[in-house]
Amino acid sequence: MTYTQHRYSGTSERTWQVDLATASSVAPWAQRAPALLAGEVAAMGESFPHWLLALGQHDAPVACGTCGNPVVFAAGAARCVACDTPADPPPGAQLVWVGHLPTLLRPASALDARLPALAAAGFPTFTVGAAHYLLVMLLLAYPAEWPHEEPSVRYSPHFLRLIGVGPGPSGITHLLSAGRACLYAPGQYQGTGAAAVLQQRAVNHLASLMKIAGGTPPTEAFIGRIH
Ligand SMILES: [Zn+2]
Repeated sequence: MTYTQHRYSGTSERTWQVDLATASSVAPWAQRAPALLAGEVAAMGESFPHWLLALGQHDAPVACGTCGNPVVFAAGAARCVACDTPADPPPGAQLVWVGHLPTLLRPASALDARLPALAAAGFPTFTVGAAHYLLVMLLLAYPAEWPHEEPSVRYSPHFLRLIGVGPGPSGITHLLSAGRACLYAPGQYQGTGAAAVLQQRAVNHLASLMKIAGGTPPTEAFIGRIH
């Protein structure tokens, strides 16, 4: 089975098949269980088709040495999504997903004054009917021992500063170090796949942060959360 990914840059679109054999070779868990990775890619393709499976290290995407763009898995190599330059997996290489989640902007909120700075920093808004959304870039990184350890989901610390809630760490905003979202209580993670982690945890975490950015007291923004 093949999985197609797309990337839009300005008006141009690039399409490629995810090279599962190459992707599996970079991470210990995927080397041991390539079918697990195939299932992850299929599930993400269903729910988050614009997210990219990319090469990572230290819970961050590896940047192309030539142009700085993410490195994806295509045509027998890890290669830059923009300029095609092959990249060697670094020590401790990881598989990561990079993409955006849309989050609803409430009208006349304290966040409105921050939107121009967010747009300038690459966090645009868009409108569907009468509803306004902000597109927030996130990163999900699989640990070497996934699925026995939970994946990390991170915001850009710059984004957290721009919305005025971070970057943490803070128990009040459920943020760990370096913009990582606290999504599970200790011992609570049960091997859930990336798409479900995003749907079941990250979407709500982002919505709670947006409430705080809009003026809701943090103690109320996370009410109803499991931890
Ligand atoms: Zn490049």
